[in-house]
Amino acid sequence: MKVRILGAGPAGLYLAALMKRDDPSHDIEIFERSPRNATWGFGVVFSDRALEFLKADDQALFDYLTPHLETWPEITVVHNDTKIPVAGNGFSSIGRLELLTLLYAYVEKLGIKINFDSEIKSLDQLGDADLVVGANGAFSWLRDENKEKFGTTIDWRPNRFIWYGTTKAFNSLTLTFRETDAGVFCAHHYRYQPDRSTFLVEVEDATWHRAGFEHMSPEETIKYCEQVFAKDLEGHPIITNNSHWRQFPAIWNERWSFDNVVLLGDSLRTAHFSIGSGTRLAMEDSVALFKALKEHKNNVKAALAYFQELRNPPMKKIWDAANVSIRWYEEMDKLVKELTPVEFAYSYMTRTGRVSHEEVKKRDPKLAQDYEKLHPEVVTQSV
Ligand SMILES: Cc1cc2nc3c(=O)[nH]c(=O)nc-3n(C[C@H](O)[C@H](O)[C@H](O)COP(=O)(O)OP(=O)(O)OC[C@H]3O[C@@H](n4cnc5c(N)ncnc54)[C@H](O)[C@@H]3O)c2cc1C
Repeated sequence: MKVRILGAGPAGLYLAALMKRDDPSHDIEIFERSPRNATWGFGVVFSDRALEFLKADDQALFDYLTPHLETWPEITVVHNDTKIPVAGNGFSSIGRLELLTLLYAYVEKLGIKINFDSEIKSLDQLGDADLVVGANGAFSWLRDENKEKFGTTIDWRPNRFIWYGTTKAFNSLTLTFRETDAGVFCAHHYRYQPDRSTFLVEVEDATWHRAGFEHMSPEETIKYCEQVFAKDLEGHPIITNNSHWRQFPAIWNERWSFDNVVLLGDSLRTAHFSIGSGTRLAMEDSVALFKALKEHKNNVKAALAYFQELRNPPMKKIWDAANVSIRWYEEMDKLVKELTPVEFAYSYMTRTGRVSHEEVKKRDPKLAQDYEKLHPEVVTQSV
């Protein structure tokens, strides 16, 4: 089968690997506009649950990646100066560049060609193919140019975020919320290698305007954020990598394919970074498409229909949860001001509606007890 893939991100790379590993006669090429060693961002996280899925689907890749992961058993929620560790939330992380480099090596060893520095701007550039995969990320032109066929919706969310790093190595995945005169600032930070952490700063739109970020240079912006999080950074600098303020596009497609063209990963749908599932979802898409093609013996039309049928229910659940999580962050000013640290940490844990009081009790009995003292009604409600 001749397969042409746009984009050497986790989605495109992993689909290529699964297909070629299963059938070395496939003719697969990947086209990536960036050079081999270029990538944006710092580290990405996988929850323990996400890794369990990977282990179940692909023990070989799990064994290949896990020695490179930083892991920790809990998360920490910081409400101004109060730190609340929340147990039962294991996470692992890896530098995005390291993950991609490992996947490039994995894919190339299987005999797949990755064409770096190759921007594809039209399908004609790919020639004839049995299957064309649009794994070219959240800003896919292939999706945008065919938005009627795909039934695309893009909901730009109001919060602003900027993806930084720092040389400080944090001990757990931490969500730090600090009140300032301009409003509440949130940092999502976690170590992804022994001397580096991701340090993503997020604020409500009104805070962003009050702080005056639109008139600040990149250096002034860093200085401002370093001051807000001085107690957390403890003298370590914030570092940048093509970092700039963005807003998050919540993307969905009603139809995932037309003719022999299919979307995969972030081009198909985005999931807010606060649930740490973007990379996992992209890789699970690849597993589902691979299974659909196999089940239908590479009959592309049947396989693409089955791909959507198979993948839509589990993906929609996580996508819905991600969108509820986005909205929680859009109320961070109010929540930080109105809730005590324990209530705040509890609200964080239960924000998507997928974690019940019983589940909090299982994961972190102390947090559940502390919350019950403030809200005894929750005990009767949860019985
Ligand atoms: C701020 C932020 C933080 C995030 N944090 C996390 C996290 O902690 N954990 C997590 O799991 N996920 C995180 N994500 C999401 C994660 O990075 C993505 O969900 C994941 O990378 C999606 O994989 P993908 O392969 O679909 O797309 P991408 O990784 O975006 O890859 C698409 C590739 O296509 C290439 N491309 C684009 N257009 C063309 C073209 N015309 N021709 C050729 N190549 C092209 C791009 O250069 C890119 O390499 C975060 C995302 C953001 C924005």
